[in-house]
Amino acid sequence: MPLSQEELARFGVISPRDATFCDLSTPCEDFEGPKVRGYGRVTISSKLYIAHRFSYAFYRKVDIECIKGLVIRHLCHNPSCFNPRHLASGDSEANDEDARLHGLRSQVATRVGNARKEAAIQRAKANFRLWMARR
Ligand SMILES: [Zn+2]
Repeated sequence: MPLSQEELARFGVISPRDATFCDLSTPCEDFEGPKVRGYGRVTISSKLYIAHRFSYAFYRKVDIECIKGLVIRHLCHNPSCFNPRHLASGDSEANDEDARLHGLRSQVATRVGNARKEAAIQRAKANFRLWMARR
């Protein structure tokens, strides 16, 4: 059963292709192979792909190159799931929103942590330049 208009809006599904494709009445398909941070990894023609991204592109018949820069979100919030009907495209903002809404704060926290680290590096560089200028 495809998602209703209301569900589509609630999940923030914006792509018309995703809207016709997404169906959460189907069960999750958990990836059994190697995983990195819960996300399955597949090697196809000696190229490494993230399993759910490959599944998304493959079942929607789009070139995987075309989804570069898009976040492929799990509507089921199960990172190891590769059921193409549980996946929807979005920008990274939509993904942050998902993480916030569903308490998966770690991804966002890492990003904030990285931003802090980057700021500390910039400060250290600025201090070093000042120190050099004073010599
Ligand atoms: Zn799923």
